[in-house]
Amino acid sequence: MSTPILLVVIIGSVLGVALLVFAIARGRGKGAGASGGLCPGCRRAMRPEWPRCMFCGWMPVARLEFVLGPLTGQVIELRDDVTTVGSVVGNSIVLADPAVSRKHAGIRRMDGGYELADLGSTNGIYVNGHRLPKKNLAPGDVIRVGNSECVFRPQ
Ligand SMILES: [Zn+2]
Repeated sequence: MSTPILLVVIIGSVLGVALLVFAIARGRGKGAGASGGLCPGCRRAMRPEWPRCMFCGWMPVARLEFVLGPLTGQVIELRDDVTTVGSVVGNSIVLADPAVSRKHAGIRRMDGGYELADLGSTNGIYVNGHRLPKKNLAPGDVIRVGNSECVFRPQ
């Protein structure tokens, strides 16, 4: 009578320990794979909720991946405070396209994000198929300017 109960207790504790080990291993794996990790600027530990490093001010640089139009295949980093898109020289990104206005759109870098704005273009800007005057960009947003399309990648 006492043997089966002892067996249940042993099996129960073995299973409990196994679950605990599994949970710890999972937790460690997640920690190592998180984008938080170390700051590429000063190599100190960065918390995932920080939009920029509290020690040296390093911030992840977003990119635009062009998937349609004359710049297809190119990746442009949004390093400046303002990145402008237009058809004439003097813009950060020049799109030789009759559907693009001379000064078409701008992307402003703010604490913790990027804002896309129409700079009074003729044909407008489209984000995920909707014509918008302004948009706080989200990961994977597809921006259309004239006959070009690019995907917003925050890191
Ligand atoms: Zn840093």
